[in-house]
Amino acid sequence: MAKLAQPGSAQKRQKDGSRASLKGGRFADKASGSTSDKELMRRAKPRRDPWQVMPTDQAPEGASSPDARPVLRFQATKRSKPPAHLADFDLAGRKQMLKEAGFPPFRADQLSRHYFTHLTTDPHQMSDLPATGREKLAELAFPQLVQQVVERSGDQGMTHKYLWRLFDGAEVESVLMRYPSRATLCISCEVGCGMACPFCATGQMGLTRNLSTAEIVEQVRLARKVCQEGELGGDPCHLSNVVFMGMGEPMVNYRAVLGAIRRLIAEPPEGFGMSARGITVSTVGLVPGIRKLTEEKIPVTLAISLHAPDDELRDELIPINSRFQVSELLDAAYDYFKATGRRVSIEYALIKNMNDQAWRAGLLADLLNARGHGWAHVNPIPLNPTPGSIWTASESHAQAEFVDTLERKGITTTIRDTRGQDIDGACGQLATKSRKERTGK
Ligand code: SAH
Repeated sequence: MAKLAQPGSAQKRQKDGSRASLKGGRFADKASGSTSDKELMRRAKPRRDPWQVMPTDQAPEGASSPDARPVLRFQATKRSKPPAHLADFDLAGRKQMLKEAGFPPFRADQLSRHYFTHLTTDPHQMSDLPATGREKLAELAFPQLVQQVVERSGDQGMTHKYLWRLFDGAEVESVLMRYPSRATLCISCEVGCGMACPFCATGQMGLTRNLSTAEIVEQVRLARKVCQEGELGGDPCHLSNVVFMGMGEPMVNYRAVLGAIRRLIAEPPEGFGMSARGITVSTVGLVPGIRKLTEEKIPVTLAISLHAPDDELRDELIPINSRFQVSELLDAAYDYFKATGRRVSIEYALIKNMNDQAWRAGLLADLLNARGHGWAHVNPIPLNPTPGSIWTASESHAQAEFVDTLERKGITTTIRDTRGQDIDGACGQLATKSRKERTGK
């Protein structure tokens, strides 16, 4: 619970309405937004809405005063690093790793095939390696990085949720979901998250540390194994999709995330040989990260967790909006589409009387259409609620009107399903429960 500061902190509003810079002044204060977007926002807003609920209407969990404000964190509180693992490196790096440890570099191909094709780290299954030294080799290449603590299954065995314990005792989650035509894995890239979004269970934890590339890749290997062995819904299937929508903010752990993406898409035996199109990177909207990803020219899907089309609400709902406002964020998302041809997903958790009004759907459509047509797809998802709080899912008539308004303005929209609600499926819920059970806090 390290994320709350009292009034007067680095995030407090300044007299001119802008926000004081974040710790260390890491980002220049340039979030002004284009005039026409501001005008659209101004015109869309109703004069008075007695039903409007704001995030600040309720003190955040753990706050010692009602006007406490969330604090963004980019630096992990823990610096511990997991041991190096074969999946941290590309093929050349693996050869180097083996050479330095006194093994012949050509073993890198064999070890890679075991890991990325046969999905195993067990030396007993590596009969092509010399019996003497096989164990040592496997120990060097595949130190155990993740250990299963909990596995839960729901939706008639079609959804599995895993809680993994890492080498230092930290815990992260992944969720594996089977659909008629695909299987999708939702993975974590950080222990906790420093983005402090008040509706998100992970956002309440603060950032403990970044995951290494191999810790991210391990989540994928284990899920591919489950699919291949027919443990997800009865018969074998193929893991086709990976979404960075578990714990953490991918743009804060950019290097390790990019390394993991490269391992996922590299041809076997260097990687799993997955299609980049099946991978989704979801972000709260760190614009420099989006720009960097655009330059990589890897056609992964970019998802933006927008959740509000107007800065007034988004400033409270997604604290990083104080740095990168809606205009600048949508510009970066649109440029991503132009560079990659990949349609951008706009994520929008529908929260009762907070962001689910038809006027906000209309404003969102106008902002998207102002940039171009057919470049973005909106995915509203009913909020996974926190019982007894202002954080409640929209009612179904409001959801329907929201979708209808977007569609009438030509925006393709798909309500996301809420898989795994019965198994604490939402981001950070299982890890929070596990920690509470262990520590009583
Ligand atoms: N940090 C990244 C990825 C992790 S969260 C991001 O924010 O995009 C993955 C998605 O789940 C985000 O769109 C996030 O806003 C959403 N989410 C978090 N808590 C939620 C909740 N209680 N109900 C519905 N969606 C939620």
